Amino acid sequence: MQSQVLEIIYLIGSITFIIGLKMLSHPESARRGNLVAAFGMTIAILGTIFLYRDEYNQPFASFNIILIFIALVIGTVIGVLAAKRVKMTAMPQMVSLFNGMGGACAAIISVVEYQHHFAAGEYGYSGTVLAGLLIGSISFSGSMIAFGKLNGNVSDKTFPFQSVINLILLAGLVAAGIYLAIQPETNMPVLGMLAAACLVYGVLFVMPIGGADMPVVISLLNSFTGVAAACGGFIYDNQVMLTGGILVGSSGTLLTILMCKAMNRSLLNVIVGSFGGSASGGATAGTTQGTVKEISLTDAGVLLSYSKKVMIVPGYGLAVAQAQHTCHELENLLEEKGVEVKYAIHPVAGRMPGHMNVLLAEADVPYPKLLEMEDANSEFASTDAVIVIGANDVVNPAAKKNPQSPIYGMPILEVEEAQNVIVMKRSMNAGYAGIENELFYEPKTRMLFGDAKSTLQKLVTEVKAN
Ligand code: NDP
Repeated sequence: MQSQVLEIIYLIGSITFIIGLKMLSHPESARRGNLVAAFGMTIAILGTIFLYRDEYNQPFASFNIILIFIALVIGTVIGVLAAKRVKMTAMPQMVSLFNGMGGACAAIISVVEYQHHFAAGEYGYSGTVLAGLLIGSISFSGSMIAFGKLNGNVSDKTFPFQSVINLILLAGLVAAGIYLAIQPETNMPVLGMLAAACLVYGVLFVMPIGGADMPVVISLLNSFTGVAAACGGFIYDNQVMLTGGILVGSSGTLLTILMCKAMNRSLLNVIVGSFGGSASGGATAGTTQGTVKEISLTDAGVLLSYSKKVMIVPGYGLAVAQAQHTCHELENLLEEKGVEVKYAIHPVAGRMPGHMNVLLAEADVPYPKLLEMEDANSEFASTDAVIVIGANDVVNPAAKKNPQSPIYGMPILEVEEAQNVIVMKRSMNAGYAGIENELFYEPKTRMLFGDAKSTLQKLVTEVKAN
């Protein structure tokens, strides 16, 4: 009876994951989608704790239940505190950290279950156990390096023949995994060495990746963790774990492919960890010869108030300044004056996939106002004024013009097609890729220096006065 109830709970849990994921694809329903999926996860966890029966029809020992609840309480407290305290701009680090924990869990499950697989003698089972170990450990150490890089603690490190070494190491890991899976007996020392080598591979794989390429690797590691969790689902014959893992794995893979397209990188390059992205090929900030023109707040206010069409390009600086509400206020004011206002969203603007969409949704900017890159690019020519707010790499023409640039080939928002470009940032400092931006020196570009939030507040006052 218990096992049937548990099956039904798992089914409900799986359905909530699918519904939750679907709801996450739209900013208006995303928050509720998250709650729906969290509800499914909660009943699946509680159902497993209280209704699970082993092959001898025995429930968990009460001592184990106490241990499980202690772990649950500790994990919940850490999770809630971290989620409440994290700044929006530090979300990618947190995502990497939590993703790494998922990978570590999958790897630990594999280490524990490895010792059981010989009783069954099934290669499919032992293969799944070892796949979980390989993918989970790589995902763990890779995510920790990604965390360190995004947090500014770890810098990009390239080494000679890195792609070849990485490929050989990966082939060796897979071969060792297959060897262990078909062995008639357990070999814990070799398993330990394999786990250690996987951790090293994770480090070597992510270490050289830098410049503007981190979004791809974060999303790829996310899909790794999903696949590792799905292996856990196979091992335990647990439908809800399998569904959750497959959903994370497949959505992460789709996102990786979309990111690759947006960054103009091939997935193979990502997998062998060979794309560099060091700033060496692009001019370092401050080295371009040319003059930069500034615009006064009053002139900016007049220009915007008397424009027919204005396009706002938000970037990482908008998130740093937490200027999304003021930005929305400016948009409303301009619309009241009969100006058509839209937002141009680059897929890798900010520091995490969908960063700008989340920020603007938080400020209640209507979703239809957000244009994707291709649509925005077709509208810049008919735009009177573009306001670039804390964006840099995503509007850098070097991506189109300079084959030596680390961001060469990345599609960008072609703001220079508009009649006027106002760039809001604090200084001439570079963005994430660490390179100079010639857009700032173009004749039609004028700089409005200062923190995005306070500059926008002053601009709102100016526009009101017109
Ligand atoms: P960038 O990082 O290129 O530039 C942001 C700019 O914002 C900086 O030049 C900075 O200049 C300015 N800025 C910072 N703080 C403020 C502030 N308080 N007020 C005003 N301006 C500010 O941002 P983009 O969004 O254009 O590009 C994102 C980059 O991040 C891309 O290279 C992308 O590949 C990378 N990335 C994206 C991820 C994703 O998933 N979206 C994940 C990891 C990396 P100044 O200091 O002069 O103010």
